[in-house]
Amino acid sequence: MTVTSTTSRRAPLPRTWSIRASDIAALVAGNAVLIGAMWVRHGQLIELHSVTGIITAAGQLAALYGTYLVLLQLVLMSRSPWLDQVFGSDRIVWLHRWVGFSAILLLAAHGVLTVTGYGLANGSGPIGETVTMLTTYPYVLLATAGMALFVLIGVMSINAARRRVSYETWYGIHLYTYLAIALAFMHQLAVGTDFLGDPVARLYWLALYVATFSLLIAFRFGQPITLSLRHRLRVANVIVEAPGVISIYMTGRELDRLAVRAGQWFRWRFLTPDDWWRSHPFSLSAAPNGEFLRITVKDVGDFTSKLQRMRIGTLVFVEGPYGILTGAQRTRPRVLLVAGGIGITPLRALLEEMPAGKGDLALLYRARRPRDLVFRREIEQIAALRGATVHFVVGHHGTREMPHDPFEPRAIQRLVPDVAQRDIYVCGPVPMMDAVRRSLHALHVPDTQIHDERFAF
Ligand SMILES: Cc1cc2nc3c(=O)[nH]c(=O)nc-3n(C[C@H](O)[C@H](O)[C@H](O)COP(=O)(O)OP(=O)(O)OC[C@H]3O[C@@H](n4cnc5c(N)ncnc54)[C@H](O)[C@@H]3O)c2cc1C
Repeated sequence: MTVTSTTSRRAPLPRTWSIRASDIAALVAGNAVLIGAMWVRHGQLIELHSVTGIITAAGQLAALYGTYLVLLQLVLMSRSPWLDQVFGSDRIVWLHRWVGFSAILLLAAHGVLTVTGYGLANGSGPIGETVTMLTTYPYVLLATAGMALFVLIGVMSINAARRRVSYETWYGIHLYTYLAIALAFMHQLAVGTDFLGDPVARLYWLALYVATFSLLIAFRFGQPITLSLRHRLRVANVIVEAPGVISIYMTGRELDRLAVRAGQWFRWRFLTPDDWWRSHPFSLSAAPNGEFLRITVKDVGDFTSKLQRMRIGTLVFVEGPYGILTGAQRTRPRVLLVAGGIGITPLRALLEEMPAGKGDLALLYRARRPRDLVFRREIEQIAALRGATVHFVVGHHGTREMPHDPFEPRAIQRLVPDVAQRDIYVCGPVPMMDAVRRSLHALHVPDTQIHDERFAF
């Protein structure tokens, strides 16, 4: 297996979807308007003449929009390729976080406003009304259990709590979202003012659920199963690249039909007795070549440490490809790749694949110690073949050998004087990526020329 050839591409490019962010925004806004209209149609504006009416009507609106946001959450997590193409995984994760918190706030508001409004209207007070609703209204007890699960998921997603639990625990708790949705679903149709006696509203609501779950089934199950069965990937070789860093080579059937670009990543599930149940994201560290796929993994925890001992022949299940750190984002003929640590992986693949004339490609690769530089020989060979410029930026910042931040604006400009005329692709530790972005802004590089990928969700 040779990984430094820059021969013509033998793998097809992923499908480009003609959908734009504005189309998605219009669809989301259109449904939001329909939901508001449904609320008005069911006479909620008439309720606004009294305080109790306002409170109850607001509770109803909060329920409708809270549920709508929960469904949007599921769409964001459906791993739909068109969403990935439009927003990129980093922005999807950001949206998921804030849509999630907003949904939980609205659903909690629904509970509080509804018992307060009803309690004031019939004189039983919020606590008495809570007891009445829990004990006599159909499915409300189940919906309350669902609400408690949503709150648990929200609390666990606050940064301070998130940091205290493993990724697997946090992810496992997130799976309770489906249970919470199921628990809440029936009470909407059974007691929701907007659905009682209105078959059109019920049909519309059901259609939202069906559309959302269809996306989930298609892209979280259908697409990965089809892809994995078609290509039957297996571990072909594992080699040590640097202390605590290995490359895993995978071969399979018809890899020349696997549509993927350099710079993209998959979720990999190695089918071993211990780890078949969990998938982890890793970028391709060599450009797709139709013969094999390669990932390069740094040992940072439980799973990545086990990968260092992966058996040859292990079957691999994949989901993807994902990510927009690719040549498709390019706006300029010249490109600068800025890598820190293991963030070199997608950039190493891009260095090999990105079309460029002599001198158009430059790489800054930051590592603390020379022995932490992964692929040094490969990078030098590719650079020589492609006429690319490479700067290995090695040393401990703050010492005599490197007194200044190597990514401060002047330092970047000294190494790459025409930086403002280039597209810049950045991948590395988050503080480094933030520092590079700040420096690029100081050098007047517009955001449209900066493309990055974070290795942490
Ligand atoms: C888009 C993307 C591409 C990546 N590419 C590479 C790569 O090419 N090479 C490389 O070495 N690393 C890469 N990573 C990072 C890699 O996925 C994590 O280091 C790895 O999953 C850690 O798992 P662990 O159990 O060993 O460590 P842990 O100690 O369990 O986790 C360390 C951190 O990794 C993240 N993480 C853990 N498990 C998962 C998971 N199942 N899904 C998502 N994130 C998780 C969490 O932020 C966690 O805090 C990439 C990450 C992302 C998001």
